[in-house]
Amino acid sequence: MFHRSPPQRFHSEKMENSTGYSMDYSKYMNEVGKSRHPAVLRVMESMYIGIPEGCVEFAAGKVDPEIFPFESISVKLKDGNSFCLEGNDLMNAVQYQNSAGYPPLRKQLKEMVRHFHKPPYDAETILISGHQDGVCKTLEMMLEKGKSVFVADPTYASGIEMMRPYQPAYYTIREDADGIIPELLIEALERSKKDCGGDPKKMGNLLYIVPNGSNPSGTVIPTKRKKEIYKIACDYDLLILEDDPYFFHNYQEEDSISFLSLDTERRVIRIEGLSKLMTPGFRIGMATGPLPIIEKMEWHMQVSVGHLSSISMMVIHKTLEKWGLEGFNKQVAYVREVYRKRRDLALASAEKYLKGLVKYNIPRAGMFIWMEVIGVEDILDMVLKRAAPKGVMVVPGLTFFVPREGQDPPKNCFRLSYSYVKMEDIDRSHSSPPLDIDIQEPM
Ligand code: PMP
Repeated sequence: MFHRSPPQRFHSEKMENSTGYSMDYSKYMNEVGKSRHPAVLRVMESMYIGIPEGCVEFAAGKVDPEIFPFESISVKLKDGNSFCLEGNDLMNAVQYQNSAGYPPLRKQLKEMVRHFHKPPYDAETILISGHQDGVCKTLEMMLEKGKSVFVADPTYASGIEMMRPYQPAYYTIREDADGIIPELLIEALERSKKDCGGDPKKMGNLLYIVPNGSNPSGTVIPTKRKKEIYKIACDYDLLILEDDPYFFHNYQEEDSISFLSLDTERRVIRIEGLSKLMTPGFRIGMATGPLPIIEKMEWHMQVSVGHLSSISMMVIHKTLEKWGLEGFNKQVAYVREVYRKRRDLALASAEKYLKGLVKYNIPRAGMFIWMEVIGVEDILDMVLKRAAPKGVMVVPGLTFFVPREGQDPPKNCFRLSYSYVKMEDIDRSHSSPPLDIDIQEPM
């Protein structure tokens, strides 16, 4: 039998009192962002908090637990831990949930963000449905036609697709082995200032960046450069949208840091999650940043998907509860080791088979190697018509460049991802004849 739980706490008082921030975030928002408000029904829900158990709940549009067809849900983890969802836990796993996330999980993940990033102010964290959702919701409240957005060149392909409908003015910043080059960011910011003729509505104010193990280039911005970039962001009044799925997939001696860790001026929106660390299927991510922005995301959540999958949130909550920080760190170490080995073998194989044919960075984090084919202008046919039929798939680099006016993007690059390929398939030379791909042949 199920029990009714008290209504979820909804922090509207805190949201209405978001004026403690000296920065005016509305200047970064488009009309959609500015006019987003809390959903009335969700606000009403918060007004009933504190009403005694046993009251006659004619107000809630919840589903009666009696109709749920589940008696219990059991979960077994690979490490031997297990748990069974029943009673109130089961109820919370199948009932409507709070739009900012199942509160106990939200608390756990907020604590985790604080533990790993130590934001220099009381940044707010809500749950989002994977990185994609957090980036998408941020862009939706900020971008508009002609507004400048600063991105690495190349940059995450789905990020580009998310921006495209808003038709922003793109300013691309070339990377070296340490990520985007600060001097080029300044140059782009100055150019955007001129292009906008000083129109503050169109001024460049959003930098979208994948700072650790960039997708597709695999670069990690070292701490010193992150500090330089952060200083530029302060000087030019930029917001930083930090999309950081590969923070823990770090193959360097020292830990990476996030822009959130540096954010004394409250200008970073950090998007992270468990997709690449535990499971992408559960769609659990976190958005952390200044409350006036995070609350807009929460209001968006209220009227879009409502909340993340309740069962996903409950299973992750229970798993993290079983693990504690120690178990979580074990998982991080395990994942890091799996991918580090694959990266090393992929690099060794590139050295063995592709030496002199391609140029590439050594990825210091993440899942990708960005390769530039030497002496070939366009590799699309090679990738799609010749490599693919022979069973080798990579992503043509074209996908990772934002549209450029009157200029074709480079066509001689591709992204090689080593995360999903088994060790024995990265170099098959020991188990089967080498693949017959001569990437030097003319198209
Ligand atoms: N951002 C970047 C930079 C990514 O590499 C990915 C995964 N491909 C995502 C966002 C999407 O992540 P999620 O599955 O958590 O939405």
